[in-house]
Amino acid sequence: MSTTVQQFKNFVGGKWVEAEGGTMEVINPATGETIAEVPRATAADVDRAVEAAEQALPDWLEATPKERSELIHKLADVLEQNAEELAQLESVNVGKPLMASRDEMPFSADNLRFFAGAARILEGKSAGEYIKGYTSMLRREPLGIVGGICPWNYPLMMAVWKIGPALAAGNVQILKPAEQTPLSLLRFVQLAEDVIPPGVLNVVTGDGVPAGERIVTHPSVRLVSLTGDVETGKAIARAAADTLKRVHLELGGKAPMVVFDDADPEAVAAGIRLAGYWNSGQDCTAGSRVIAGPKIYDALLEALVPQVESLKVGDPMESDEIEMGSVISQSQQERILGFLERAKGATVLTGGALGMRNGDRGFFVQPTIVTDVKQDDEIVQKEVFGPVVTVQKFADDDEAIRWANDVKYGLAASVWTRDVGRALNAARKLQFGTVWINDHLLPISSELPHGGYKQSGYGKDMSIYSMEEYTQLKHVAAKID
Ligand code: NAD
Repeated sequence: MSTTVQQFKNFVGGKWVEAEGGTMEVINPATGETIAEVPRATAADVDRAVEAAEQALPDWLEATPKERSELIHKLADVLEQNAEELAQLESVNVGKPLMASRDEMPFSADNLRFFAGAARILEGKSAGEYIKGYTSMLRREPLGIVGGICPWNYPLMMAVWKIGPALAAGNVQILKPAEQTPLSLLRFVQLAEDVIPPGVLNVVTGDGVPAGERIVTHPSVRLVSLTGDVETGKAIARAAADTLKRVHLELGGKAPMVVFDDADPEAVAAGIRLAGYWNSGQDCTAGSRVIAGPKIYDALLEALVPQVESLKVGDPMESDEIEMGSVISQSQQERILGFLERAKGATVLTGGALGMRNGDRGFFVQPTIVTDVKQDDEIVQKEVFGPVVTVQKFADDDEAIRWANDVKYGLAASVWTRDVGRALNAARKLQFGTVWINDHLLPISSELPHGGYKQSGYGKDMSIYSMEEYTQLKHVAAKID
């Protein structure tokens, strides 16, 4: 990949435009090099994108489900045809392994195709005479202009999770990628610009404040979907209250992996190697808290340490074999190490330091395992969002479930046991939006909902349930006598 600094503009009303706020630099976190400049949008730039969306809305409302479906299929075609270029760009901008970015592209295209299909099969209650003398029918209608605010860990995939249901439901959209990682979405839209009706999909890059904030406060925007941090979710929910817009929040997590004594330690260790360190642990469903039974605890650690030490860490552009790249930024690197420094009394079994594979370049953290932590320790309670896994030893099943639930988050969890009854009982009691049994992280699919309980947010991504977020129901009643 060349190190020339690429220049990008915002995509508004089908045109590439500069922002009033000038530009901002985008870096490759595995090297620290500047790789691109993108617009730094102001509130006025966002207002122009909303105007463009407003102008596009009347025509887009006339599009039939088939026409909406065709557009989304074309977007999926563009993504598939350019998957390798987009994967390379994602790896350069996020510092993530190529094998991971390459996995995300077909999954993202599949997600678009799911919603292309869903656009044509919306179902509801049948029309009928629920009130004597009246025929009632229900219409499921789009909200109008919807906003999407994306995180940096899966930049294109998270944007796609918002594009599919928004356009399938008949909305027009303004998307803001994270300031660190706007490149894959901008490039995708460049590649797709000929198939996007002007104003139906707009992309504005810039900071959370003012650009993201203006999407939230603009009175014409009727929904904001955020994937991001819990604190950002709270700020957005508060700001959205003034215009009573709908808010869809996919926030952070602190996923427990509950390992009962009868599980296979080797299989669990292999599962943790993937779930705890995929994307450098910068995953909202990362298996970051292992809660293991008293009899399996020692055997599990014995299997886990070599598994974690075998991870190939480095600049994703060095080799296709790299399994873990950098973290997203220097501040994220410092934040992760801060958690380790403050974890007094804890034991770092492996890792625990800066893992700079390129001399003093890039923002790496070694894959880390921490034991001797207590349930109320910060490192157990708060999302670290880095390659750090804590391991705790529980006394009995009740304590395992209690510890698993005892965090403010509720996005995902897993249970590891050969006992079906024990597994299903735990799945029932765990307060998380997803519970996996004998696996963690990868069992997700476009048909199935993804979303949180508790402070991991509300609303579902993917699946037909996501269409409900992006639509509103209207009751039409006609007097018939
Ligand atoms: P972040 O909250 O810092 O930023 C997310 C987005 O919000 C960015 O585009 C940012 O510019 C914008 N933003 C920030 N402040 C804003 C404001 N006041 N108003 C409007 N927009 C604002 O999150 P991040 O650091 O980019 O991403 C990591 C977080 O995302 C983690 O907590 C992770 O768990 C979460 N995440 C959740 C899911 C999920 O599906 N639940 C998926 C991926 C990531």
